[in-house]
Amino acid sequence: MSIWIGAMQKHLEGHKGLTDHNDIVRVDAGKFVYIPLMSMFSTNIEVLVKEGDSVKVGTMIAKRSDHMTVPFFSSVSGKVVGKQTIMHAVLKPLEHLVIENDGLYEKEQPFSPIDFEKATREELVDFMMNAGIVGCGGAGFPTYMKYKNPQNISTLIINAVECEPYITADYREISNNIDDLVLGVKAMLKLSTAKEAWIAIKSPKKELIAKVRAALVGVSGIVVKEVPDVYPMGWERTLVYQLLKKRYDRLPSEIGCIVNNATTAIAFAKAIRTGMPIVEKTLTFSGNGIKTPANVSVPVGVKTAEIVAKLGGYASEDVLLIAGGPMMGKTIPNDQFVVTPYGNAVTILKTEKIDSVACLRCGRCNDTCPAGLLPVRINNAEQAADLDTIVKLRADQCIECGLCTYVCPSKLDVAEGVRRAKRILQLKKK
Ligand code: SF4
Ligand code: SF4
Repeated sequence: MSIWIGAMQKHLEGHKGLTDHNDIVRVDAGKFVYIPLMSMFSTNIEVLVKEGDSVKVGTMIAKRSDHMTVPFFSSVSGKVVGKQTIMHAVLKPLEHLVIENDGLYEKEQPFSPIDFEKATREELVDFMMNAGIVGCGGAGFPTYMKYKNPQNISTLIINAVECEPYITADYREISNNIDDLVLGVKAMLKLSTAKEAWIAIKSPKKELIAKVRAALVGVSGIVVKEVPDVYPMGWERTLVYQLLKKRYDRLPSEIGCIVNNATTAIAFAKAIRTGMPIVEKTLTFSGNGIKTPANVSVPVGVKTAEIVAKLGGYASEDVLLIAGGPMMGKTIPNDQFVVTPYGNAVTILKTEKIDSVACLRCGRCNDTCPAGLLPVRINNAEQAADLDTIVKLRADQCIECGLCTYVCPSKLDVAEGVRRAKRILQLKKK
């Protein structure tokens, strides 16, 4: 049974104009970079270098090798100086490998480029795995896992929707790397065994749509699909339903579909062409809490505080730092978390006093939830510590989109109550 039953999609004020037409700002690493030793919440990572070892940009420094293979690479040249535990963008303190940057950015190719047209499908899957390609849209899921054993896949969906307010990093990355987008999607199409790839872009993005369509002239099997400018259109379930009018239980592959972010396809193409993994990332730093909102291109492992300083600092003494967009991102209590291969934004908002009033029982949050939940009832159950009701109301299915808070006329942080209920269920399972 599909859990996706909510009808809700909402147009949100995008604030995208703060950054979407400005050039990407290059930010160099400072004296150190900090490579997080974590993959999909697993810290089962084998470190392949020791203190004092010299590394280059691209040196493989660690590897996850349990049921998934995920290599980690250095983003600078210099020396390994040890490990340090610091706050990560997933809101957990985690061990990071610290590398002292010599500022030279000498490169080492960790794998050879590949001719994806000549390579067999299996060779290409192995290439993707060894290149460490992960979901660049925020998830960090090892991408090769989706292509290992495709069964009856008919459609590959490339998600270029970017529906969260403030974030324009994908928009800029795609605009600047159209040829790599096409190359990456062609290679993914071969991997997927699907007949067609659909690149989904929001319909108001006319300029981008025209650019991608122009690049696809003469390319068979890849088309652009325009989707409405509503939130959360970039959520996998919403997007799949919008395009295929089908719902699924756990994974899109159940209904013959694979979904990947457009920037993941670009990273894959770069690895194919250059033999280099994701060592640098483009992220949006935006919001009314930063002096100069911008898209930045920055080596993996640079601290948020350093990037904010390079952009002129905070616009207020009291700001809220969100790893990700304002709707789905996580509020992080300090600015020491670092750039990862999968993060796409840091939203910085001035802290505002919110005068909330009691629930009006208007039911808007219930009508809005795209996961078909009853957020106000989950909040009540969470406050009453009523575990049975939390289970019955399926709080674990919340996708943390934040819409229930967004629409609440009483200005209650309904989503936070649901998140707490979800965490109670997660802790119970452990
Ligand atoms: S945050 Fe969770 S409960 Fe609230 S609208 Fe989104 S999915 Fe529904
Ligand atoms: S939207 Fe706000 S006021 Fe309305 S029912 Fe939900 S929690 Fe109550």
